[in-house]
Amino acid sequence: MQAVTIAIDALQGDADFRPLASIADLQVDLRYAGRNNLLGRDLYAPHDCAWLHVQAADALALTVQWLARERPELRLRVLDAARPQRVQELFWAHVSGTPMQDYFAPPDRGSIHSYGMAVDLTLADVQGREIDMGTPFDDTSELSHPALEHRHGAAGRLSQNQLAHRRLLRTAMLHTGWQGINTEWWHFDCGDRSEVRRCFRRIV
Ligand SMILES: [Zn+2]
Repeated sequence: MQAVTIAIDALQGDADFRPLASIADLQVDLRYAGRNNLLGRDLYAPHDCAWLHVQAADALALTVQWLARERPELRLRVLDAARPQRVQELFWAHVSGTPMQDYFAPPDRGSIHSYGMAVDLTLADVQGREIDMGTPFDDTSELSHPALEHRHGAAGRLSQNQLAHRRLLRTAMLHTGWQGINTEWWHFDCGDRSEVRRCFRRIV
Protein backbone atom coordinates (compact mmCIF):
# COMPACT_ATOMS: atom_id res chain seq x y z
CA MET A 1 0.00 0.00 0.00
CA GLN A 2 1.27 3.45 -0.88
CA ALA A 3 2.18 5.80 1.97
CA VAL A 4 -0.39 8.55 2.58
CA THR A 5 2.17 11.28 3.25
CA ILE A 6 5.51 12.39 1.86
CA ALA A 7 8.02 14.75 3.47
CA ILE A 8 8.63 18.01 1.61
CA ASP A 9 12.35 17.24 1.45
CA ALA A 10 11.60 13.88 -0.19
CA LEU A 11 9.95 15.40 -3.27
CA GLN A 12 13.34 15.58 -4.92
CA GLY A 13 14.02 12.10 -6.20
CA ASP A 14 10.36 11.03 -6.19
CA ALA A 15 8.97 10.40 -9.68
CA ASP A 16 5.53 11.79 -8.71
CA PHE A 17 6.90 15.32 -8.30
CA ARG A 18 8.51 17.85 -10.63
CA PRO A 19 10.41 21.05 -9.76
CA LEU A 20 9.05 24.34 -11.07
CA ALA A 21 12.60 25.16 -12.20
CA SER A 22 12.19 22.51 -14.91
CA ILE A 23 9.48 24.59 -16.64
CA ALA A 24 11.13 27.09 -19.00
CA ASP A 25 9.93 30.71 -18.96
CA LEU A 26 7.96 30.22 -15.72
CA GLN A 27 8.57 32.92 -13.09
CA VAL A 28 8.54 31.78 -9.45
CA ASP A 29 8.13 34.05 -6.43
CA LEU A 30 6.90 31.89 -3.54
CA ARG A 31 5.41 34.45 -1.15
CA TYR A 32 5.49 32.17 1.87
CA ALA A 33 9.22 31.64 1.31
CA GLY A 34 9.85 35.26 2.31
CA ARG A 35 8.31 37.96 4.47
CA ASN A 36 5.93 39.39 1.86
CA ASN A 37 2.87 37.45 3.07
CA LEU A 38 0.01 37.70 5.53
CA LEU A 39 2.04 36.27 8.41
CA GLY A 40 5.03 38.53 7.66
CA ARG A 41 7.61 35.77 8.02
CA ASP A 42 9.27 33.01 6.04
CA LEU A 43 7.14 29.89 6.49
CA TYR A 44 9.07 27.59 4.15
CA ALA A 45 12.76 27.93 5.05
CA PRO A 46 14.85 25.81 4.95
CA HIS A 47 12.67 23.67 2.68
CA ASP A 48 12.37 23.99 -1.11
CA CYS A 49 8.66 24.28 -1.90
CA ALA A 50 9.00 25.17 -5.59
CA TRP A 51 7.50 21.82 -6.59
CA LEU A 52 4.24 20.43 -7.92
CA HIS A 53 2.87 16.97 -8.49
CA VAL A 54 4.06 15.90 -11.94
CA GLN A 55 0.47 15.95 -13.30
CA ALA A 56 0.04 19.57 -12.19
CA ALA A 57 3.52 20.59 -13.34
CA ASP A 58 2.94 19.07 -16.78
CA ALA A 59 -0.39 20.92 -17.02
CA LEU A 60 1.32 24.16 -16.00
CA ALA A 61 4.00 23.65 -18.65
CA LEU A 62 1.18 23.46 -21.22
CA THR A 63 -0.27 26.70 -19.84
CA VAL A 64 3.12 28.37 -20.28
CA GLN A 65 3.19 27.20 -23.90
CA TRP A 66 -0.37 28.44 -24.49
CA LEU A 67 0.47 31.87 -23.10
CA ALA A 68 3.68 32.04 -25.15
CA ARG A 69 1.60 31.56 -28.30
CA GLU A 70 -1.26 33.87 -27.37
CA ARG A 71 0.52 36.63 -25.41
CA PRO A 72 4.28 36.31 -25.87
CA GLU A 73 4.90 39.54 -23.96
CA LEU A 74 3.52 38.01 -20.74
CA ARG A 75 4.68 35.32 -18.30
CA LEU A 76 3.04 33.17 -15.64
CA ARG A 77 4.38 33.98 -12.16
CA VAL A 78 3.85 31.33 -9.46
CA LEU A 79 3.13 32.68 -5.97
CA ASP A 80 2.54 29.37 -4.19
CA ALA A 81 2.70 25.71 -5.19
CA ALA A 82 3.38 22.72 -2.89
CA ARG A 83 2.43 23.74 0.65
CA PRO A 84 3.35 21.35 3.48
CA GLN A 85 0.48 20.40 5.79
CA ARG A 86 2.53 21.85 8.67
CA VAL A 87 2.32 25.31 7.04
CA GLN A 88 -1.41 24.88 6.38
CA GLU A 89 -1.79 24.35 10.14
CA LEU A 90 0.19 27.54 10.85
CA PHE A 91 -2.18 29.49 8.59
CA TRP A 92 -5.18 28.00 10.31
CA ALA A 93 -3.87 28.99 13.76
CA HIS A 94 -3.41 32.54 12.43
CA VAL A 95 -6.83 32.97 10.76
CA SER A 96 -9.09 30.75 12.84
CA GLY A 97 -11.90 32.81 14.35
CA THR A 98 -11.26 35.77 12.02
CA PRO A 99 -13.10 36.66 8.79
CA MET A 100 -10.02 35.35 6.94
CA GLN A 101 -10.74 31.77 7.95
CA ASP A 102 -13.10 31.39 4.99
CA TYR A 103 -10.04 31.55 2.74
CA PHE A 104 -8.21 28.63 4.33
CA ALA A 105 -9.11 24.98 4.52
CA PRO A 106 -9.16 23.64 8.10
CA PRO A 107 -6.21 21.32 8.78
CA ASP A 108 -8.19 18.07 8.93
CA ARG A 109 -9.68 18.71 5.49
CA GLY A 110 -6.46 20.31 4.25
CA SER A 111 -5.55 22.15 1.09
CA ILE A 112 -5.12 20.81 -2.44
CA HIS A 113 -1.80 22.72 -2.30
CA SER A 114 -0.63 20.10 0.20
CA TYR A 115 -0.89 17.43 -2.51
CA GLY A 116 1.06 19.52 -5.01
CA MET A 117 -2.09 19.72 -7.15
CA ALA A 118 -2.96 23.43 -6.69
CA VAL A 119 -1.11 26.57 -7.70
CA ASP A 120 -1.45 30.29 -6.94
CA LEU A 121 -0.25 32.52 -9.71
CA THR A 122 -0.55 35.80 -11.55
CA LEU A 123 0.61 37.34 -14.81
CA ALA A 124 3.77 39.41 -15.17
CA ASP A 125 5.82 41.04 -17.89
CA VAL A 126 9.13 39.54 -18.98
CA GLN A 127 10.96 41.71 -16.42
CA GLY A 128 8.87 40.20 -13.63
CA ARG A 129 6.62 43.20 -13.01
CA GLU A 130 3.23 41.86 -11.97
CA ILE A 131 0.18 42.80 -14.04
CA ASP A 132 -2.64 44.71 -12.29
CA MET A 133 -5.31 42.21 -11.19
CA GLY A 134 -7.29 44.65 -9.07
CA THR A 135 -6.16 43.23 -5.71
CA PRO A 136 -2.90 41.84 -4.38
CA PHE A 137 -2.39 38.11 -3.83
CA ASP A 138 -4.05 36.91 -0.59
CA ASP A 139 -6.32 39.97 -0.41
CA THR A 140 -9.22 38.61 1.61
CA SER A 141 -11.87 41.09 0.49
CA GLU A 142 -14.74 40.34 -1.88
CA LEU A 143 -12.82 42.20 -4.59
CA SER A 144 -10.74 39.01 -4.93
CA HIS A 145 -13.80 36.87 -5.69
CA PRO A 146 -14.08 35.79 -9.32
CA ALA A 147 -17.73 34.96 -8.67
CA LEU A 148 -18.44 38.65 -7.93
CA GLU A 149 -16.34 40.22 -10.70
CA HIS A 150 -19.31 41.08 -12.86
CA ARG A 151 -20.81 43.11 -10.02
CA HIS A 152 -17.48 44.79 -9.15
CA GLY A 153 -17.00 45.72 -12.79
CA ALA A 154 -20.48 47.21 -13.10
CA ALA A 155 -19.90 49.27 -9.94
CA GLY A 156 -16.50 50.48 -11.14
CA ARG A 157 -14.61 48.78 -8.34
CA LEU A 158 -12.60 46.80 -10.90
CA SER A 159 -11.49 48.39 -14.17
CA GLN A 160 -12.07 46.81 -17.57
CA ASN A 161 -8.31 46.23 -17.79
CA GLN A 162 -8.20 44.44 -14.44
CA LEU A 163 -11.17 42.28 -15.44
CA ALA A 164 -9.52 41.47 -18.77
CA HIS A 165 -6.28 40.44 -17.04
CA ARG A 166 -8.16 38.07 -14.74
CA ARG A 167 -10.08 36.61 -17.68
CA LEU A 168 -6.83 36.05 -19.55
CA LEU A 169 -5.29 34.19 -16.59
CA ARG A 170 -8.42 32.04 -16.25
CA THR A 171 -8.60 31.32 -19.96
CA ALA A 172 -4.96 30.26 -20.00
CA MET A 173 -5.47 27.95 -17.02
CA LEU A 174 -8.87 26.48 -17.94
CA HIS A 175 -7.54 25.77 -21.41
CA THR A 176 -5.01 23.33 -19.96
CA GLY A 177 -7.16 21.43 -17.44
CA TRP A 178 -7.11 23.65 -14.36
CA GLN A 179 -10.19 24.83 -12.50
CA GLY A 180 -10.57 28.06 -10.57
CA ILE A 181 -12.49 28.74 -7.38
CA ASN A 182 -15.10 31.38 -6.52
CA THR A 183 -13.16 33.33 -3.91
CA GLU A 184 -9.54 33.77 -5.12
CA TRP A 185 -8.59 34.94 -8.61
CA TRP A 186 -5.06 33.55 -8.12
CA HIS A 187 -5.93 29.95 -7.11
CA PHE A 188 -6.35 26.97 -9.44
CA ASP A 189 -6.74 23.25 -8.80
CA CYS A 190 -5.60 20.48 -11.13
CA GLY A 191 -7.82 17.45 -11.53
CA ASP A 192 -10.72 16.29 -9.41
CA ARG A 193 -10.41 17.61 -5.84
CA SER A 194 -12.07 14.67 -4.08
CA GLU A 195 -9.98 12.17 -6.03
CA VAL A 196 -6.84 14.10 -5.12
CA ARG A 197 -7.77 13.99 -1.43
CA ARG A 198 -8.52 10.27 -1.68
CA CYS A 199 -5.65 9.01 -3.82
CA PHE A 200 -2.68 11.38 -3.60
CA ARG A 201 0.02 11.65 -0.94
CA ARG A 202 -0.14 14.65 1.34
CA ILE A 203 3.07 16.65 1.68
CA VAL A 204 4.12 17.18 5.29
ZN1 LIG B 1 -4.11 28.66 -3.46
